[in-house]
Amino acid sequence: MKKLIIANWKMNYGPIRAGGWIRAFRRERLPKDLDIAVAVPFVSLAAARASLGRASIPTLAAQDCFWANEGAFTGEISPTMLTEFGVGLCLIGHSERRANLGETDEMVARKAAAAQKAGLMPVICVGETAAQRKRGEAAKVVRSQVQTAIAEVKGDGKAPLVIAYEPVWAIGTGRPCSPLDAKEMHEQIRGVLRKKYGHLAEEIHIIYGGSVDTRNVAEYMTTTGVDGALVGGASLDPRNFGLICRAAVPA
Ligand code: PEP
Repeated sequence: MKKLIIANWKMNYGPIRAGGWIRAFRRERLPKDLDIAVAVPFVSLAAARASLGRASIPTLAAQDCFWANEGAFTGEISPTMLTEFGVGLCLIGHSERRANLGETDEMVARKAAAAQKAGLMPVICVGETAAQRKRGEAAKVVRSQVQTAIAEVKGDGKAPLVIAYEPVWAIGTGRPCSPLDAKEMHEQIRGVLRKKYGHLAEEIHIIYGGSVDTRNVAEYMTTTGVDGALVGGASLDPRNFGLICRAAVPA
């Protein structure tokens, strides 16, 4: 399967700067054998789309969506609204949302199912805290997060799903999870997917996120069971993100 690298700008770059990032990234030499997406703030989707023009790389992604398509949900953005911008993927349940906004596994499950139904590929983010890892509960926590999140998500069709394993303690800390630990957790996650989806589970991307940068990306990409990366801080500079993409798939 082709590797998948997703940039996550988090709450950075409004419409004015978003266009510049897209144009600069489009000038980068990019490996053909790689799927690339960029998750931009809602308010920057139109500018990013306009700067992309007819280009399809990178695919536009959103950082969240709601679980209903319309109605009395003040402030929320629906999956079908996102498709109007040509968004192809949507992060769901990023740990920063779980921690800051109290998103639960059940909310993540509803959002993931709604995103998929609208034709967006849900990128379901899971990961244990440092305390959970210390207590030896990491695998149990992550398996349970995945199980709940995929309850109503299909394993085939035009928009299947991605699981992003992002240990909370590795996000934005410069302290990444070792490739061996990531491999072990990806195996746990694959096991959960196999139980639900059977052989289709082999086609589902399980990507790693947490302090991925130009120096360590190649090691993750050559680790068995790691099908890509979700990149936060190191994606904010388009040239640096270009370097990451090139390092991910050496020529
Ligand atoms: C993220 O935002 O999902 C992430 C992994 O951030 P960082 O790469 O900065 O750790």
